[in-house]
Amino acid sequence: MNPEGSPISRRVRDIPPSGIRRFFDLLASMEGVISLGVGEPDFVTPWHIREAGIYSLEQGYTSYTSNYGLLELREELASHIAGRRGISYDPQRELLITVGVSEGVDLALRAILDPGDEVIVHDPSYVSYIPCTVLAGGAFVPVPTNLENDFQVRAGDIEKRITQRTKAILLGYPSNPTGAVMDREELVKIAKVAKRHNLLVISDEIYERLVYGVEHTCFASLPGMKERTILLRGFSKAYAMTGWRIGYAAARDEIIEAMMKIHQYTIMCAPTMAQMAALEALKGGDAEVEEMVADYDQRRRVMVKGLNDIGLTCFEPKGAFYAFPSIKGTGLSSDEFAESLLIEDKVAVVPGSTFGQCGEGHIRCCYATSLEEIEEALERMARFVKRHRAR
Ligand code: PLP
Repeated sequence: MNPEGSPISRRVRDIPPSGIRRFFDLLASMEGVISLGVGEPDFVTPWHIREAGIYSLEQGYTSYTSNYGLLELREELASHIAGRRGISYDPQRELLITVGVSEGVDLALRAILDPGDEVIVHDPSYVSYIPCTVLAGGAFVPVPTNLENDFQVRAGDIEKRITQRTKAILLGYPSNPTGAVMDREELVKIAKVAKRHNLLVISDEIYERLVYGVEHTCFASLPGMKERTILLRGFSKAYAMTGWRIGYAAARDEIIEAMMKIHQYTIMCAPTMAQMAALEALKGGDAEVEEMVADYDQRRRVMVKGLNDIGLTCFEPKGAFYAFPSIKGTGLSSDEFAESLLIEDKVAVVPGSTFGQCGEGHIRCCYATSLEEIEEALERMARFVKRHRAR
């Protein structure tokens, strides 16, 4: 026992429980709810990818792979990244197959942080960044972003927060929860800041394929940035493979080696069946990704127009599958809004405050659900907002 008499470490006790959990507990006990809450594709993994997973089992591929992951998968990834982004990674030493980007975030932070090292993170941002930083012994330094600049983080705002202890900048764009995509020019400025202050950049690009009418810039492709970037990517979103638990990290060999050290003692290797399926996704999944993106784009337009029509001002999200409207006109906090909307009109959304202080005054609506459900949810939300409009 520790001096407080708890069997749980102080570090873990100090991490607040995920704000989303309460809503999902409530949701699980209700019927007739339309969920815009969970951030996952409503598509099933394309059949030929599932078949590759099944076939791998039939063939008896049931043992561990290399700690780094199947070499064939790493080779395919290296040529995929080189072909699409023009960056060359050595498949033997600069790529690591992970259990989703979730593991990638954890490994990256644990590999680079010493106690008290600081990580600059944009606010709002994905829910795991801050807890994983704290669990790795680091301290997080939030950088506010807002509706006025489409939730893109500014290089100048990052630079102002750099101290002697700053080790890395963590970027998660296209963004969960806002759907923001970074402009290339601003990323170039951030790259200069990273170079000037000798910082690493952890770039979570899990939504890189899900962009609408804009180009995603891979941070590692910017001049001089391959050496400074830990690039994290996965299969969950673009290929609708959330349950397979598969992703990868790309970085210079010294960093991948350090991440692999943690991975080999804690995970051993990503699931073999999922690695075989991921290989098939890379080789033959492009057409389906494009179809899914076109589908999300249609839903995105309906969602954004609908929210703006209701009076929930929404900037146009250019990536991922989230809209992040302002609810300030209702006078409710984002927590109150989400809870009352769920109880009164049975629509589940996630309070913006879950993603950081700057998320307050917003809600996250995931549009990876059917058009019929989106339209019905918008009608319910219109009724709710009418009743709650601030007097
Ligand atoms: N990063 C971001 C920004 C996400 O939105 C998610 C999942 O929602 C993850 C990482 C985790 O993804 P994975 O399924 O690859 O672990």
